[in-house]
Amino acid sequence: MNRILAAIIFSLFISTGYISFLVHERQQELQKLTHYANSWSAGQLVSEYYRFESWLGLYTIDETMTLDDVRLHLDIMLSQSDLLKEGDLGNYIDSNKSLHELAIKLENTLNYLDTHLEKMSRPELQEYLKTMYSLDAPLSRLSSGALNKDVNLINNANSNIQTLYSIYSAVSVLLIILSAILGMLIFYQNRNILKAHIQVKSLAEELQDSKEKLQIQNTKLEYDVYHDPLTEMSNRLFFWDNLNKIINISESNKSSVTVMLFDLDRFKEVNDTYGHDAGDMLLRQISLRLNSMSLPADTLYRLGGDEFALLSSGLTESHAVSLAQKICECINQPYTIYSTIINITTCVGIVNSETERRSDYLYKFADLALYEAKNEGASKIKVFRQRMLDKLQESRTLEHDMALALTNKEFVVYYQPIVDSYSREVYSYEALIRWVHPRKGILSPDSFIPVAEKTGMIIEMGKSVLEMACREAASWAVPVKISVNVSPVQLSSKAFAGIVLSILKETGLSADRLELEVTESSLFIESNTPMNTLNKLKDLGVKISIDDFGTGYSSLSRLSRLAFDKIKIDKSFVNSISTQEDALTIIKLITGMAKSLSMKTVAEGVETLDQLENLQALGCDFVQGYLFSKPQPYIAGEIRNGLIQNCASGLIKAPRG
Ligand code: C2E
Ligand code: CA
Ligand code: CA
Repeated sequence: MNRILAAIIFSLFISTGYISFLVHERQQELQKLTHYANSWSAGQLVSEYYRFESWLGLYTIDETMTLDDVRLHLDIMLSQSDLLKEGDLGNYIDSNKSLHELAIKLENTLNYLDTHLEKMSRPELQEYLKTMYSLDAPLSRLSSGALNKDVNLINNANSNIQTLYSIYSAVSVLLIILSAILGMLIFYQNRNILKAHIQVKSLAEELQDSKEKLQIQNTKLEYDVYHDPLTEMSNRLFFWDNLNKIINISESNKSSVTVMLFDLDRFKEVNDTYGHDAGDMLLRQISLRLNSMSLPADTLYRLGGDEFALLSSGLTESHAVSLAQKICECINQPYTIYSTIINITTCVGIVNSETERRSDYLYKFADLALYEAKNEGASKIKVFRQRMLDKLQESRTLEHDMALALTNKEFVVYYQPIVDSYSREVYSYEALIRWVHPRKGILSPDSFIPVAEKTGMIIEMGKSVLEMACREAASWAVPVKISVNVSPVQLSSKAFAGIVLSILKETGLSADRLELEVTESSLFIESNTPMNTLNKLKDLGVKISIDDFGTGYSSLSRLSRLAFDKIKIDKSFVNSISTQEDALTIIKLITGMAKSLSMKTVAEGVETLDQLENLQALGCDFVQGYLFSKPQPYIAGEIRNGLIQNCASGLIKAPRG
């Protein structure tokens, strides 16, 4: 389209130029019409010549006339004769030889008269007139010839003008057509522009629309970035942003910063028992309750899982603690989820500081306090103290020392007998690890096992205990069993069954002499690895006991899925057997259940004869405790050497060979 427009405009430009050229040409032709006056000049000259002849003729016959009039006409004639030499007439005469001669003759005649007129008599003049008359005919031929030529010229110019006019008309028509086309094109173009304008307008509207949508999306995105999708509470990112803000404000106000971390107790068990939907529902209900407390905005956060947080400033420590108590009370009220009443509690770690301004340190301190609260049990509130940090430092040192201890072989095994309740014969020895620390002396496992589990060093440590215990048991003269404790961390490793097998092979201990003691918590994990491992080992003849029974949350389904060989009743129940009716009832329940599942029961922590008698009465199969022997670095000589006689304590016997 643009090309067509450009071509038309170019054509218009050319046409207009051409028209100007035509007008100029016409002007030239018209000018020619005015220029060509040869016939007039020749006519003028000839008639003047005739007039002069008649004046001269009159003078020769009329005596009364003076010569002055003749002279006047001669002078006029002389001046007119110049016309024959110059201009267009001059050119015309020069171009014709006879005319040229005529002009010379005429000039000579007139010049002769000019010099002799006054001297000549009338008769002489009459005689001269005859000469002059001889020029009349040629002169009139000159006049008519000039006239002819002029007429031709005028005709030519006329026909030229006619041609120019035709071209002019044609070009004008072309101009009109081009203008019309241009007009149409401009109209068409205008329509297109109008259409484009409408399109642009609708596009702009769409753009505005998308912009608004984008803004809404952005706001939502921003909201999503800072909020937890499940509870709609502010999330971890928001927590860190606000913690830094609060720190800045508190710094300028010289006020305290409070960080509280909440961690629900046994939330995992809720998930495991009632399902994740119920768990999610519980979290939502907790968040609704927290919202209903009408705390100031941007105070509460869900950091993830079952962890919540509170941020505040300008609180005293006692205010912070009572606020934490209020929140705990709110959370601890029972929940109804899918028509089931669920009770949940929470632990709180608090840091309230007027001096600490580093956000990561404040978080770490609150976390340490929470860790301590969790260690103390459910529903505990702890405020951060310097000693917690020291303890952390200690545990770091412990980690370091433990790594060294593994290479230095500082871990040894103590043995404690497990005895048949009725015959008092040693059934097995439980291998219990001890750390012979170069500076601190002998350390009991409770002080380092948790750290070893946390760092993963338990894998290496457990392997070395298993190896030492199996080697020891393989050397005994009497084939009593060896019980080895296995951490949940070890059981979660797929390599564990292979490790046990290779140790049995290496030490030559038969699989049926090995008993593994696993805790209930080992089995409360998502993965099937522990169950699979235990089943594999059981198939090989290894016995499995469930340790510390009654302290965890064993599900009957899980208990029956793996037919454990023994249940070890936790020493806390044994300890209170004589004093608390409940403990007795629980032990009765456990022994009853074990019987119905064809499992044996072991009571640990038996310290008194009274306890022993009670356990015997309840039908407990095996007993273990200080009453018989404390864990020792050695084995009763009878078992080691195969001498069948009473053991040192007097209460236990080596099994009869
Ligand atoms: P556990 O398996 O329940 O072991 C029994 C604990 O009770 C032992 O503590 C034992 O010394 C103690 N005990 C035995 N009889 C009595 C008694 O009559 N009264 C009292 N008050 N306590 C008694 P120990 O040796 O300090 O072991 C503590 C825990 O450390 C063990 O509890 C076990 O869970 C863990 N542990 C010990 N050795 C190992 C090991 O080699 N590997 C793993 N993973 N854990 C181990
Ligand atoms: Ca044990
Ligand atoms: Ca135990």
